Amino acid sequence: MKQKVAFYTLGCKVNQYETNAMKQNFIEKGYEIVEYEEYADIYVINTCTVTNMSDRKSRQVLRRAKQINSKSIVVVTGCYVQVAKEEIEKIKEIDVILGNNEKKEIVDKIEDYINKNQKQKKITDVMQKREFVEFGNTTYTEKTRAVIKIQDGCDRFCSYCIIPYARGRVRSRKIENILEEVKLISKKEIKEIVITGIHIASYGKDFKEDIKLIDLLEKLNEIDGIKRIRLGSLEPSIITNEFVQRIKKLEKICDQFHLSLQSACNSTLERMNRKYKIEEFKEAVKLLRENYKNVLLTADVIVGFPGETEEEFNTTYKNLDEIKFYKMHIFKYSQRKGTKAAIMKNQIDGKIKDERSQKLIEMSNKFQQEYNKAYIGKKVEVLFEERENEFVKGHTSNFIEVKVETKENLDNQIKMVKINKIDKENVIGELIK
Ligand code: SF4
Repeated sequence: MKQKVAFYTLGCKVNQYETNAMKQNFIEKGYEIVEYEEYADIYVINTCTVTNMSDRKSRQVLRRAKQINSKSIVVVTGCYVQVAKEEIEKIKEIDVILGNNEKKEIVDKIEDYINKNQKQKKITDVMQKREFVEFGNTTYTEKTRAVIKIQDGCDRFCSYCIIPYARGRVRSRKIENILEEVKLISKKEIKEIVITGIHIASYGKDFKEDIKLIDLLEKLNEIDGIKRIRLGSLEPSIITNEFVQRIKKLEKICDQFHLSLQSACNSTLERMNRKYKIEEFKEAVKLLRENYKNVLLTADVIVGFPGETEEEFNTTYKNLDEIKFYKMHIFKYSQRKGTKAAIMKNQIDGKIKDERSQKLIEMSNKFQQEYNKAYIGKKVEVLFEERENEFVKGHTSNFIEVKVETKENLDNQIKMVKINKIDKENVIGELIK
């Protein structure tokens, strides 16, 4: 009988990609993948450490594995492992510990554990790593959208962020390896890929040759079969006139950009160690809107960063009200041990963070509703992804979620839809035959 392996993935799309790569390694060696809540022989927890809360969640999840099967092998990997080695080693339920750079060795390490019956641990210092770790071609995906990892690491060291310590310096993946993987994915009838990494704007920075993200995108755009290329979170400073003039010629690049803004007040941005001013950010937004007719912009914003005065928050509020994102992901700042911001003076009271977050959530909902309403009566192309009760749902290229009531299975198909109404946050349409 095949050995069963269950995965639990926390955190970002890079972790998701790496989980898919590990799953593929197991399948190729004859293992079977099952859901995390099911009985399995091996449980793999791919952890995240972006907040203290992620650490706690990682610990909870790994404890659950032995409750499902007390004889199972529990493997822990990911960013939490990388930054909290000592803490992890004390958790008795864990049998195998692997650092971020060792994920590709997972099957061998587990087989070593089984053969030697002794705990395994391999965590190399991620900061010393200067080359991208290749998993090989990762074509495993459970979704209609495939995540493609193009780089690892970040050199920015924003004052609130622990990620550079968990992921190391910028290491870009060779262009030919990315192209090969995407060509294989296109043969699996996948129509949309999401370009992801820890800091994709830095793609190519570590190469001797002058290769940038835009060069890679131009090559990806030529791959037959792939219809949409969506970009993961982008640092605003990459949006220059040259970048926009080149990217707008690539018809497969989705007209939705997620910008990691974090604050719309210059003094807060400075304390965050972000390298741009809000005026430059507004220029980038202007450029995108001038060059893409239907572009939708989304952003991450942190409220309650240490020292964020009422005046600073009001500046952020005013600027965001002017920019009008389609959607904002609002995060209440939380102290992350090991970062500069965690020991800054003037930490903000939880109640104030709640209030500020609420104000921005309301603003975000209002703009989303307004943008959605403007689509009533319009015809849009939707790539369908999954069923939800009597509806099938998918996204437009600019990432509006659209639902259509039908019994047909439309997964992974692109169809024309006429938008009929907005029901609360749902955009409802009908298929155009
Ligand atoms: S750019 Fe800043 S927030 Fe993003 S991963 Fe790098 S250090 Fe963290």
